[in-house]
Amino acid sequence: MLADILIRNARGLDRSGPVAVGVAGAQIVWVGADEDAATLVGNETRVIDAEGAWVLPGFCDSHIHLFAGGASLAQLNLGAIHSSDALAQALAPHARGEGLLCCYAANYDLLGPGTRPDRAALDQIVPDRPLYIAATDYHCAWANTAALAAAGILHGADAGPGAEVVMGRDGLATGELREFAAMALVKRLSATGGREDLGIAGAEPSVVSVEERTRDKTAIAAALAECARNGITAVANMDGNLYQADLLEEMAEAGELPIRVSLAMTLTAAQSDDERRALMNRAMHPARGHLRFGRVKMFMDGVFDTWTAFRTDDYPGRPGFRGEPLFPPDLFAAICVEADRRGLQIATHAVGDGAVRAVLDGYAAARAANGPRDSRHRIEHIDMLHSDDLPRIAALGVVASMQPVHPPGSSGLPLEPTISIMGPERWRDTFPWRAIADSGATLAFGTDWPVSPLSPVNAINSAMIRRAWAAGVPDQRLTLAEVLTAYAFGGAHAGFEENLRGRLSPGCAADLVLMKGELQTLSGPVPDLTVSLTICDGRVLFDVAVSQT
Ligand SMILES: [Zn+2]
Repeated sequence: MLADILIRNARGLDRSGPVAVGVAGAQIVWVGADEDAATLVGNETRVIDAEGAWVLPGFCDSHIHLFAGGASLAQLNLGAIHSSDALAQALAPHARGEGLLCCYAANYDLLGPGTRPDRAALDQIVPDRPLYIAATDYHCAWANTAALAAAGILHGADAGPGAEVVMGRDGLATGELREFAAMALVKRLSATGGREDLGIAGAEPSVVSVEERTRDKTAIAAALAECARNGITAVANMDGNLYQADLLEEMAEAGELPIRVSLAMTLTAAQSDDERRALMNRAMHPARGHLRFGRVKMFMDGVFDTWTAFRTDDYPGRPGFRGEPLFPPDLFAAICVEADRRGLQIATHAVGDGAVRAVLDGYAAARAANGPRDSRHRIEHIDMLHSDDLPRIAALGVVASMQPVHPPGSSGLPLEPTISIMGPERWRDTFPWRAIADSGATLAFGTDWPVSPLSPVNAINSAMIRRAWAAGVPDQRLTLAEVLTAYAFGGAHAGFEENLRGRLSPGCAADLVLMKGELQTLSGPVPDLTVSLTICDGRVLFDVAVSQT
């Protein structure tokens, strides 16, 4: 057999000596020793010299927000800012521009350790232009007075259940906006109308002009190109509304999805039964090109930094307060039973251990009602897990969809305030990848981009070098092989495509990546590894040699 593309002179994880990979059409047709590959070369074969780069299965980011990620490429990333001086410097060139100034990836210590941002502090830095700063977790944002006034919420607003426009003693909003519904009140003033965030909250845009629609598709296309540059060939997009489903279906139809995208439809407690039914119907739409549905997404809680994570014990210093679940148990169980009955996969955000328990209860109810099946329901994040619930994950066949870049102290995140809000006695129960892997459950890794940086190299490195926050806290680091599996095969399993992708084997889809540098540096402080080539479905999407010339 002749190859359309033959990668030669590569390094493979499980082979010594130079490796070659042959691709014909959309499939891998041959993997073996380089010296045996000559017979695959015909007149039409494109031979790529890997120059000793590692050849790996394409990465699968199992939890991502494509639309918001694409929009974030045009916003200001504040991830490296930890003082008001640095913030003032970063914002100075933009302080006099037009429209809402949108920033993202801000840490909670944006103004310095121990200082929670508020509108007064932001007014000092940007007094006139409306300013909106989304926290790195995308569950909180801060706005200056001009932005609050422009949004008409300076005197407060009811943002609905679980969300809050935080009010000060002076009867005016402090500038802190907790959870999407509150954040959206200001974000809708942005150039994108905030449409990129609506699917996260399960909301729909009202009127969208043809130009806006085109711009939105351009943002999604930019996100997909960014994925390809990072060696990502498949993503689970976690914020489907009907609008984004329309956009992606149109793009899939037009061949404008270079990588594999699955879209989960967002269900909320605030939606009516009819609305939820319509979203579940949409989730049952057939695959189109690189687009898959088949999944619904819910939120059981928020995050620790805003005390919206739902836990099994009281928050430190707040006796009697454990946070609240975003679904009453009966409603959550009823939705799980219905989604499961329809053969849909359920993915639920659960950060606190109380939320994880509530989600497992719902999945167990679905299994009890409908009988066991290969459902692969998922839990997203699992920042804290009660040890009693650890064995339930594997027992229910649940996929743990986790993000190695999320633990405080990882990937540039500060430790505080998160680790104090979690409480030292619970540190042993946080981000327990190692414990979950050892329990026999499947891990699927991702970044939650734009919540965290998109780079799989950064995320894999974070999983390998994570440091325990104190002596006696279990070591949750994973090996390179384990992380790579969670970043490719785990994601394929979570997408019911483990026979199609996630491995470098003949018969699998030709989704692969070449990485230049040393894989071993992934367990060191500064990884020396870059993507030099990305192929999805047999098509070269990114070639550093081409992009540099
Ligand atoms: Zn997310």
